Amino acid sequence: MNVQEILTKASELQPQLQSIRRDLHQHPELGFDLTYTKEFVKNELLKMGYEPVSCGKAGLVVLVGGKKPGKTILLRADMDALALKEEADIDFRSQNEGKMHGCGHDMHAAMLLGAAKILKEYEDEIQGTVKLVFQPAEEIFQGANDMIQAGVLENPDVDAALMIHVMAGLPMPSGSVLVPSGGISMASCEQYHIHVKGKGGHGSAPHIAIDPITAAAHIHIALQEINSRELAGGEFGVFTTCHFEAGKTSNVIPDDADMWGTIRTIDPEGKIGGQIKERMTEITESVAKAYRCEAQVEFYDYCPCMVIDDALADATLTYMNELLGQGAVSMKSIGMDKPAGGSEDFAFVSHKVPTVSMFLAAGNADEGYIYSQHNPKVRFDDSVLFKGSAAYAYAALRWLGKSK
Ligand SMILES: [Zn+2]
Ligand SMILES: [Zn+2]
Repeated sequence: MNVQEILTKASELQPQLQSIRRDLHQHPELGFDLTYTKEFVKNELLKMGYEPVSCGKAGLVVLVGGKKPGKTILLRADMDALALKEEADIDFRSQNEGKMHGCGHDMHAAMLLGAAKILKEYEDEIQGTVKLVFQPAEEIFQGANDMIQAGVLENPDVDAALMIHVMAGLPMPSGSVLVPSGGISMASCEQYHIHVKGKGGHGSAPHIAIDPITAAAHIHIALQEINSRELAGGEFGVFTTCHFEAGKTSNVIPDDADMWGTIRTIDPEGKIGGQIKERMTEITESVAKAYRCEAQVEFYDYCPCMVIDDALADATLTYMNELLGQGAVSMKSIGMDKPAGGSEDFAFVSHKVPTVSMFLAAGNADEGYIYSQHNPKVRFDDSVLFKGSAAYAYAALRWLGKSK
């Protein structure tokens, strides 16, 4: 195995990878409900001579290597889309109304299929085992955990794990691979639901009703004080209500009002995470009471911080330098080593085995890729797919070779 050989093999696959990605892009599916996607990926793997095994509610796993003794490295691609109506200016738009691959997980699945194809050609030489994992339900932070519960980290036991996420709209050359430093790289995320109970009535007679909308509006404003008045400067804790629902018509005071949002922090179990949740609960209940309502806060769907392993991150940066030269970028060197507010459910894996999570720039802002992930107009530069495949395959082969 040499690095040039891997890059050549990967670039020969590029047209195929692009058509796989565009097919998946036209057929986005959500959460664990990946009937088309899973079947598609499974068929591609079967064509390469793999025997895909289902794992958890909708995941797929294949192994390659294992003929020579050594460690096991896990490579992961997620496959799910977003509940978003696509407005991107492309001719292979989503055919599933209200669903869109707006985070690039179609790119990830195609890239890992490319890596599967390359790795199969080195099967006899691999010093250990590569476990390729196609994961559902990342966007709802449940897929990684579901696969862990189903045993994805065992049989064989996983010694290291690697994932790549594409990024659109970065101000850097498309195809660059960004490698993080060790430590926390992404925030935790936890959902909340605030339910405010009042007493409905006629819009003309608020004095004999109890208006939950007024109470909810005051709760919403009061909660902002936690960010502005109770967290110290530099403490990373963000929470945002993104969904507010109450009432159905203009002349009826409703019984209830509801708010949903997310909390992000790099200290979810500690002072900041604890303080935010405690104070959200106190403020919500007290403000509701002041306006004669009752309210509860419920926290759910927790995803921890992503923790990057120091040694694995350093080794990966070396491998990416060998593979891509200047195309390998240390996130520290460009000031991107501070934890980002975004979250990623592969974080569950990062708490179990040494993990590295890289980014692949897929669309330069100067070249018109101006929208970022989760925007209905986002476009991804899929001419970089082969670099993702090469990065997955090369990092795995190099790490196994070194760690035998
Ligand atoms: Zn996403
Ligand atoms: Zn994503």
